[in-house]
Amino acid sequence: MTYQFRKHMIKRNCDSKYNDYHAYKEYLKIDFKNRCAYCNMHDNWIMPLPFQIDHYIPRAKFEQAKRHDLDCDYRNLMYSCPICNRLKSDVFDGEISEDKINNPYFYNPVDIDYNTIFTRDESGRIQSEDVLGRDMIKRLQLYRPTKQMAWFLDELKQVYDDIEKRMQLEEDSKKRKKLECAYYKIGNVLFRKQQLFVHSFVAEKTKNYKKVNNSSE
Ligand SMILES: [Zn+2]
Repeated sequence: MTYQFRKHMIKRNCDSKYNDYHAYKEYLKIDFKNRCAYCNMHDNWIMPLPFQIDHYIPRAKFEQAKRHDLDCDYRNLMYSCPICNRLKSDVFDGEISEDKINNPYFYNPVDIDYNTIFTRDESGRIQSEDVLGRDMIKRLQLYRPTKQMAWFLDELKQVYDDIEKRMQLEEDSKKRKKLECAYYKIGNVLFRKQQLFVHSFVAEKTKNYKKVNNSSE
């Protein structure tokens, strides 16, 4: 059995123009539904660590091509967890198109529906039948256990929210009491798992990653 990679579509809704790309962060957070463009991790799970802004066509490459406009072009900005942002680094090759925002090493997370590229297995592991999709799994290390753990937190949160809804609708006081009990227990587990997750994430973030080079493997 396989599961959908993500449950939302990303739509850009910012018409404002800024000279500093950091000013777009709150727009990105909303448009990307608080989730990393690449691995789909929710930003709540690594709090208090902040998410970052990734330049899809990396700065090193657009500066070289004298395309400074791409620094603050909203179409070139992606909401990203610190690990994906770091691993994606300045990987890019070829010409920068005048009108299209394209990077041959990564499917554009906004233009391409990642559900057609990636799925998850029963344990939340990210997989792909697609050649570039598999290459992205290697480059962004989407096979790491934290990606599965973040998915598990999503699933647990879904159960937690469902119980809360049922609790509010339940008129039988005995049944409501039982739901309340389950709600608090799951809330407690969720809190502790999130704390553990942050530790794992920080440990992973501080490891020395193998430098991903530009050549295709
Ligand atoms: Zn990520």
